[in-house]
Amino acid sequence: MKALVADPIGGPENLKYIDVPAPEPKEGQALVQVEAAGVNFIDVYFRTGFYKAPETPVMLGSEGAGTVVAVGPNVSIAVGTRVAWTMARGSYAEYAAVPATALVHLPDDIGFEQGAGAMLQGMTAHYLTRSTFPLQPGQTCLVHAAAGGAGLLIVQMAKLAGARVIGTVSTEVKAQLARAQGADETILYTKQDFLEEVKRITGGNGVDVVYDSVGQTTFHKSLDCLRARGMMVSFGQSSGPVGPIDPLILSQKGSLFLTRPSLANYISDSNDLHWRASELFEWLRAGRLHLHIQKAYPLADAAQAHRDLEGRKTTGKLILLP
Ligand code: NDP
Repeated sequence: MKALVADPIGGPENLKYIDVPAPEPKEGQALVQVEAAGVNFIDVYFRTGFYKAPETPVMLGSEGAGTVVAVGPNVSIAVGTRVAWTMARGSYAEYAAVPATALVHLPDDIGFEQGAGAMLQGMTAHYLTRSTFPLQPGQTCLVHAAAGGAGLLIVQMAKLAGARVIGTVSTEVKAQLARAQGADETILYTKQDFLEEVKRITGGNGVDVVYDSVGQTTFHKSLDCLRARGMMVSFGQSSGPVGPIDPLILSQKGSLFLTRPSLANYISDSNDLHWRASELFEWLRAGRLHLHIQKAYPLADAAQAHRDLEGRKTTGKLILLP
């Protein structure tokens, strides 16, 4: 089969489109013919070695959708079932051996691209807005990179929860997209001081929660955007890692809460995985949630997809087609 691997780890130029043997499904695994794979920043981190992978060359792709073509021992899912999954690596390939516990059934009326694209960032937006800081009507959140993959979905789910949404973005085009998906206010954080803008918009009160995927360039100022006892949710680092912080800062800035969550811990329980996936799919089918797929690339062109993502050129979701 064809697969896209990082060999060796490094820049996008190290991505190689090669022939490898299709994996054999082991105990507890299903072999899935991959129809679509989502592109995520986590793939960049495995490509560069920022996140360590045990195998060489490094297999990429942390979400996908396709059809089960074979199963290993002790797997009850039927061959021919349409499925989607995340947090199991190897979807940048024609076939992937996926733990059956990670698979969710993909409804017939949701396409493979939508299914693949909704899993990682969609379930992330779900756990952030429903579990990490369950938003209530009347609350206000600040969403950084609000036109990004995770960002656009957080904006929409925050609105579904009845919250007021302030989104930061780098360009006016991105601002328009975030507003079209429900953001009440947008801030061009490359031109405007987002702290001053948040203070102005909230009448000096600050926001209840910050959902921050940007990290290094936004983290510290975001703490000042919070109301007393507000929550800082630092869930990513697209601008670079945040680095160490002194817990005393949280006290000085208003008895703040800080969390650094990971999707894995919010879907490790099968009930959580299936609850989040079924709500996502229901919202997509009902038109209450829109998955903005900016571009689908052939799998062989994954390097360009990575360049676009890292270069801040993208909005919403990127997909690879094997
Ligand atoms: P995005 O689609 O949001 O792309 C990144 C965006 O970040 C860019 O479009 C850009 O938006 C903004 N950005 C700001 N500064 C930079 C910079 N220096 N370089 C690149 N981008 C920058 O990506 P994802 O939604 O896939 O992921 C965002 C982050 O969230 C990643 O760090 C990812 O690992 C993390 N994440 C964490 C999860 C978790 O469970 N903890 C789950 C999902 C994602 P703009 O141009 O508007 O500034």
